[in-house]
Amino acid sequence: AAEEGFDLEDVEGAIEEAGHGPLPVLAVVGRPNVGKSTLVNRIIGRREAVVEDKPGVTRDRVTYEAEWAGRRFKVVDTGGWEQDVLGIDASVAAQAEYAIEAADAVVFVVDAKVGATDTDEAVVRLLRKAGKPVVLCANKVDGPSGEADAAYLWNLGLGEPHPVSALHGRGTGDMLDAVLEALPEAPAQAFGAAIGGPRRVALIGRPNVGKSSLLNKVAGEERVVVNELAGTTRDPVDELIELGGKTWKFVDTAGIRKRVHLQQGADYYASLRTAAAVEKAEVAVVLIDTTESISVQDQRIVTMAVEAGRALVLAYNKWDTLDEERRYYLEREIETELGQVAWAPRVNVSARTGRHMEKLVPAIETALEGWETRVPTGRLNAFLGELVAAHPHPVRGGKQPRILFGTQAGTKPPRFVLFASGFIEAGYRRFIERRLREEFGFEGTPIHISVRVRE
Ligand code: GDP
Ligand code: GDP
Repeated sequence: AAEEGFDLEDVEGAIEEAGHGPLPVLAVVGRPNVGKSTLVNRIIGRREAVVEDKPGVTRDRVTYEAEWAGRRFKVVDTGGWEQDVLGIDASVAAQAEYAIEAADAVVFVVDAKVGATDTDEAVVRLLRKAGKPVVLCANKVDGPSGEADAAYLWNLGLGEPHPVSALHGRGTGDMLDAVLEALPEAPAQAFGAAIGGPRRVALIGRPNVGKSSLLNKVAGEERVVVNELAGTTRDPVDELIELGGKTWKFVDTAGIRKRVHLQQGADYYASLRTAAAVEKAEVAVVLIDTTESISVQDQRIVTMAVEAGRALVLAYNKWDTLDEERRYYLEREIETELGQVAWAPRVNVSARTGRHMEKLVPAIETALEGWETRVPTGRLNAFLGELVAAHPHPVRGGKQPRILFGTQAGTKPPRFVLFASGFIEAGYRRFIERRLREEFGFEGTPIHISVRVRE
């Protein structure tokens, strides 16, 4: 490394950073208008625009990456909820419940100017029941005169209220210090707790694609619903199902089975459920309804799984209904709309007839295998050396940036760090990703490539 112009410490730092495991998850919950989205914006450093000032506009993006004091974590924003769907208490409780379920710690936001309302009290009861660490954010304390309002919130019994102005940033640093104390280093939900246990599968897809039908089919057909884990405080909604001779944990199945009939706001509800399930799973099986055109919503769900870094299987459902013509157009749609995840194993199934159910497990296993693949550094550099010699980066401004060496810093999903002599263009990065896939497989897994440039 040293003779290539990189400081050994830099190299080690870059590898450590790129190789980080799954991140712990922080949920931000509270009533509408207390300032959740403003706070999330502040936490993620406004790198991504969250607050959409049109009432009623549902946001489907709910998870963001954040960093404070050198630690990274994910933030789940529940600010997109429309309050008039179930009546305010029920809707706040429902969204909070989903978010808390997927979280390792919770920031509970209360409007200090308004004080604690009955709805706030209802959320407090939920938080108690969930038993997750809570940081109480007394928001809208824009100046010293508001501190007294914040102090009233001791009454909630959640410990110290942190006076914050999400809008101006006042007090957010101290609150984030408290958040870091509350957050575990690694997520208990997603990975840490279940090493060696059954693999965790999230069955996701937009409403009516056939999730509950498929679940009933796989659980019913095999006649071995091993266990319904109802009532345990940790995982009240996961289900163990034996398939292909192995036990799998289908996460958040209650959210699938519970037929919540909502009109307005249902999409947001569904997004939150999907995000929660994805966070808890290792592999996402995205169901697609072949009787309808592949939609932006399908793409968003796929993107959610990919961005969360989970293994991915695409299951094209309702195959029993396809005629030749629809089949023809479906294949074109798959190419154009889902071409970016052509690496995901694909199964064409029917939850109704049971068609190709037996192919689901091999597809999941393939995806998990790709997700856990590790390429030894020697092999990787031999490959990179040949690649760079045969297809050098285009010359820019009289210089030719070169990939000098690389290493795989982590798995689940595979993460690579490449060290380069100059800026590597996006097109060339994609080319490297493509060639990595051709060479090493990585079927069913997103791969991350970060590039460090020599100073
Ligand atoms: P959410 O519904 O909980 O996500 O709330 P928003 O983040 O959308 O904020 C609701 C309103 O409160 C917006 O008009 C914000 O500008 C305002 N707000 C949020 N945080 C603060 C704050 O710290 N101080 C003041 N004065 N207003 C705030
Ligand atoms: P969910 O909202 O994703 O859980 O979808 P459901 O499982 O409730 O299914 C929605 C509708 O699609 C129901 O009417 C199902 O009977 C129907 N359905 C589900 N899978 C299939 C399938 O493989 N073939 C056909 N023809 N219909 C299906």
